[in-house]
Amino acid sequence: MKIGAHIKTAGGLVPALERAVGIGAEAMQIFGSQPHMWRRRNHSDEDVAVFMEGVREYDLGPVFLHGIYLINLAADDEALLEKSIGALTWDMKLCERIGAQGVIFHLGSHKGGGYDAVFDRVCAAVSKVLEDSPPNVRLTLENSAGSGGTIGRRFDELGRIVKCLGDDRVCVCLDTQHTFASGYDIASRDGLEKAIEEFDREVGLERLVAVHANDSKVELGANRDRHENIGEGLIGTAGFENVLSHQAFAELPFYLEVPGFEGTGPDTENVDRLKAIRGKVPA
Ligand SMILES: [Zn+2]
Ligand SMILES: [Zn+2]
Repeated sequence: MKIGAHIKTAGGLVPALERAVGIGAEAMQIFGSQPHMWRRRNHSDEDVAVFMEGVREYDLGPVFLHGIYLINLAADDEALLEKSIGALTWDMKLCERIGAQGVIFHLGSHKGGGYDAVFDRVCAAVSKVLEDSPPNVRLTLENSAGSGGTIGRRFDELGRIVKCLGDDRVCVCLDTQHTFASGYDIASRDGLEKAIEEFDREVGLERLVAVHANDSKVELGANRDRHENIGEGLIGTAGFENVLSHQAFAELPFYLEVPGFEGTGPDTENVDRLKAIRGKVPA
């Protein structure tokens, strides 16, 4: 189990390495380009080479990209759907170029129309992304907190998409805050056990490739996406001890996406807290 973090890429890929090492991260997640813009960033061959060398030297893998926030694979607007497919495909290709495992992304929202109404459209969109993507890169669906018609609040919503594609590249990332806000009480031993069983039944544990480690500002089942620093929220230190002790997560990379104690994102204190919790977990 590696304790990693989402790292800012202001200035490009190379400065991100230093930031990751600076907070003691053991693995990294980054954006391939600005998350609120459709415009794609150009990465030079030299930057890519230095980045890959740095990841090796400091042992910062696995690296995942996080998809941009504008993506909605359930959009009924044809232009938005095309742009979403294009942005994801671009990130999938960038993964191959920089040696990243895959792209973790939010599927989007049905905007109140209901999951069943958009299911076929989402499957067709994901399938289109896969068609133009490299063979060994993981297209990784993230579970949602369930706000505003977001897809993937319950595990069966992800499972149905995984199954309709029948492609080994389709994987899942669980965000601890989203899981908790969607009504899975992972802070308790019984609740976690039930959640893992349901995940295995609906999706399959072999598809789980990463965890977003975030405490929660909102209570169980609140259906809001509000991350908190580790130990400061409603999952709490004991809740994370529970999560990190579970066998299902033993081999997975954890990525912090917390606000940070200075409000600048994942920091040394959050990394150290998770490492301390990992240190207490029986091998
Ligand atoms: Zn995410
Ligand atoms: Zn979130």
